[in-house]
Amino acid sequence: MKIRGHVLIYIALVFSLLPLQTVFGLKERSPRSSSMASTLLPGQAASYTILLDAGHGGRDRGARAHRPFCEEKRLCLETAKLTKRYLEQLGYRVVMSRTTDTFVPLSKRVELATQAHSDLFVSIHFNASQNTAASGVEVFYHGAPAARVKMKASLALANLVLQGVIRRTQAISRGVKKNNFYVIRESAMPSILIEGGFVTHPGERRNLKEKLYLEKLARGIADGIDTYLKKKKPRRAL
Ligand SMILES: [Zn+2]
Repeated sequence: MKIRGHVLIYIALVFSLLPLQTVFGLKERSPRSSSMASTLLPGQAASYTILLDAGHGGRDRGARAHRPFCEEKRLCLETAKLTKRYLEQLGYRVVMSRTTDTFVPLSKRVELATQAHSDLFVSIHFNASQNTAASGVEVFYHGAPAARVKMKASLALANLVLQGVIRRTQAISRGVKKNNFYVIRESAMPSILIEGGFVTHPGERRNLKEKLYLEKLARGIADGIDTYLKKKKPRRAL
């Protein structure tokens, strides 16, 4: 019909003049939620915040080894930055305890996690030993009977992150262990500390100096965190 045809043309014209965002009501959403991958389910990745703690920094250089030179604080920061990238790709919110080569006191790192309402605290470190044959990855959690819920969650997270890292890097697993490290003890949320390899082991040091290897390590950490959080029930809607 002629009139109907006119109406359709008019509607088509109006829609073509409006920005797409207005037509589909996307303008009301925040840029963050509209840029989320469409594969995310409501209440999943986007509602979680992860504090990534790159160990050491500034005057606190951490472990060091020579020929070739390798410094822990640098490895921690590079791995944390790569992990951040992977977690963000998965839709998580990530807060870093440091993004440059600066000294950050341990208490400040814990404080940052609290301020950011972080759901997880993940500290990244690298190992050293007088025994240059020692190698592999280990993940620590803090086990206090008084904080049973946190302990159980931290242990589950530690296991999944270790599995993720070993799967990606093929490194030796030294297992999940209890420890009393300040940052994992004092933070209120599930917390782990990863020792991503030995700078004192010649073969492992060669790997750690390769960006491709650190990418595998970071991807493994992100895999473990993602698996852990996906097993949890959605906490709140987007
Ligand atoms: Zn360290």
